[in-house]
Amino acid sequence: TFKAIRIDKAEKGTTAALTQFDDAELMDGDVTVAVEWSTVNYKDGLAVTGKSPVVRRFPMIAGIDFAGTVLESSHPSWKAGDKVVCNGWGMGETHLGAYAEKARVKGDWLVRLPDGISARDAMAIGTAGYTAMLSVLALEKHGLTPKDGPVVVTGAAGGVGSVAIALLSKLGYHVIASTGRTSEEAYLRELGATEIIDRNELSAPGKPLGKERWAGGIDSVGSTTLANLLAMTKYRGAIAACGLAAGMDLPASVAPFILRGVCLYGIDSVMCPLPERQKAWSRLATDLDRAKLGQMTQEIGLDQVIDTGAKVLAGQVRGRIVVKIA
Ligand code: NAP
Repeated sequence: TFKAIRIDKAEKGTTAALTQFDDAELMDGDVTVAVEWSTVNYKDGLAVTGKSPVVRRFPMIAGIDFAGTVLESSHPSWKAGDKVVCNGWGMGETHLGAYAEKARVKGDWLVRLPDGISARDAMAIGTAGYTAMLSVLALEKHGLTPKDGPVVVTGAAGGVGSVAIALLSKLGYHVIASTGRTSEEAYLRELGATEIIDRNELSAPGKPLGKERWAGGIDSVGSTTLANLLAMTKYRGAIAACGLAAGMDLPASVAPFILRGVCLYGIDSVMCPLPERQKAWSRLATDLDRAKLGQMTQEIGLDQVIDTGAKVLAGQVRGRIVVKIA
């Protein structure tokens, strides 16, 4: 057996507990990994608290990403001793997940840890940070450069937001950080934010077109905030939408698209194809300042994950969490 955070179906909702899990219950896969580090993302908070039905198989091991070392493999790309990172693919939702000493997954899901990124760094980055990188890649593919003007990051003090700020500032952008925690101004400036705005400025319904304030943006908030972001994007600018911290809805108009040629890019980290993941991880190795990553990261143990998940949902966690497993 091995230690794991197990989610079971209860009469009402689900239960979560740190307990022993039987090797015989591991799901199919051609690679078995000794998990060394994991993390707590927003979706993990939803899974361990049962606040939203992200878990779709029982029993489940929660945790949507891990980093560790291959123990056994029958997949041609992997052998025992390889250092790997795995994000999404339904782990913690439909496939047994990461809050465990052992994981069995498909070799096709794994990314080799790039040189210079430790297993701990990889989970300090986690799905949140890798999603921030996918968002930056989308804006670059659009053709955005720092010369085009400022970029806005919403949910700035959260996981995606913190990594997005660090990345964009290193790439030379003027970064406008939108946050509900203006008390975190010093933290956001240290990460590289040039301007801080109160998220209330963006959360009330606005006009279909507003003053052009930014050339691009990364949004982890959704809803009215995303609608306002689009309405204030400069001619031919672009927004990457990756989150729904304020809601799933999008009360927007087509005005920014048809009158300003603004583009809205959708970012999905879960089923993202392997070549794009590899690209994101190799760019994280070169473009994410390790000192800034350290500043935004707190370490916890497996026994603190359930409590921390609730805090993430309550917006009480700043930046990123790493979970020490082994
Ligand atoms: P997080 O650390 O909890 O950050 C979310 C941030 O959003 C909070 O720190 C807060 O920032 C802001 N926020 C929270 N509630 C809000 C509200 N009601 N109105 C406005 N702002 C609010 O979570 P995360 O791990 O960074 O994830 C952020 C979002 O991205 C989540 O919705 C998550 O599900 C999504 N996500 C999607 C993908 C994907 O594949 N598309 C991958 C990862 C994450 P401030 O305190 O600074 O205001």
